[in-house]
Amino acid sequence: MEDCIFCKIVMGEIPSTKVYEDDEMLIFKDISPIAKIHLLCVPKEHFARIHDMDQRRAALVGRMLLKIASLEHTLGLDEGYRLVINQGESAGQTVHHLHIHILGGETLKWE
Ligand code: AMP
Ligand code: ZN
Repeated sequence: MEDCIFCKIVMGEIPSTKVYEDDEMLIFKDISPIAKIHLLCVPKEHFARIHDMDQRRAALVGRMLLKIASLEHTLGLDEGYRLVINQGESAGQTVHHLHIHILGGETLKWE
């Protein structure tokens, strides 16, 4: 997708600090962290929202969740973490390429 910042990160056209990569997903550090650990997990395939998922994409997002779970210790998330997917403007979605925020490394408030 042209002009999609996360597609450009996936393609290596924009630098990122990668913490995990395979043929279908990427996990990298958020550039403006709101928690001590703030990572983003993105599918390499571009789609914007949960609403745009079909069964195949849902299975991919399921594998992203399994991968996050398998990396808990490696990523320093043993004490707990929060996953967030912002959808649409009122939720504050600014990048229209589906991404799972991974927040942790400290006690997280629920406000
Ligand atoms: P959202 O508001 O859910 O769409 O989240 C988009 C996230 O992408 C924000 O937390 C931004 O800080 C993050 N972000 C934007 N540009 C970059 C970038 N070049 N590298 C890493 N994270 C980014
Ligand atoms: Zn994209």
